[in-house]
Amino acid sequence: MIEEQIEVVKKNIAAACERSGRNFKDVSLIAVSKTKPNEILMEAYNSGIRLFGENYVQELMDKMETLPSDIEWHMIGHLQRNKVKYIVGRVSMIHSVDSVRLAEEISKESIKKNVITDILLEINVALEANKFGFTVEETYGAVLKISKMKGIRVRGLMTSAPNVEKAEENRDYFRKLKQLCVDINEKNIDNISMDTLSMGMTNDYSVAIEEGATFVRVGTAIFGARNYMNNRR
Ligand SMILES: *Cc1c(COP(=O)(O)O)cnc(C)c1O
Repeated sequence: MIEEQIEVVKKNIAAACERSGRNFKDVSLIAVSKTKPNEILMEAYNSGIRLFGENYVQELMDKMETLPSDIEWHMIGHLQRNKVKYIVGRVSMIHSVDSVRLAEEISKESIKKNVITDILLEINVALEANKFGFTVEETYGAVLKISKMKGIRVRGLMTSAPNVEKAEENRDYFRKLKQLCVDINEKNIDNISMDTLSMGMTNDYSVAIEEGATFVRVGTAIFGARNYMNNRR
């Protein structure tokens, strides 16, 4: 079942690339596996998935310990500063850097472990009250500050667009994030060259790709609905 669903998602990705004149290999699919058990992740793995996205540090660590070592783990959920030490050096990217203080902590921990951590800044493009992230206006200032930190490399921007009826309603937000990325690159800040846009989830990944996404984070369309019985978002 999961194999077929992955095929459907990949076809949709290819179609969106085709429509927008983009190259299929420039869009990477991250399978968002939060709340799903290891057996289910292994089904996706056996269908060729190597990029997994997780939201909770403890769950991420448990899964990393047991699942194959060639998986690239992406931290996409809100990250508390006191948990940074558990994932630096172990995840391939942290998508959800939503404050300068969090970046500072990641920098400190990366220096300590002698690694460079790839991060994205999470932007609350739609200014939703229940979401984390920098506003569009705050982003340039944050990038300037973070660009001076060692052990950290800002690869680009990430957003979670609103939960809307029609994906089309989010197009402007995706376009805005892309433009923000272009604008910041044009300022030629030392140590900053952003090539990554993490945007698009089950409901809107096709539109996000048309607007320039390089990572799409897809959960439900691959694994089915999540069960939030245990008090999780
Ligand atoms: C859960 C989650 C996703 C996946 O959402 P779906 O709608 O199930 O595809 C993507 N990004 C983030 C940040 C998430 O928390």
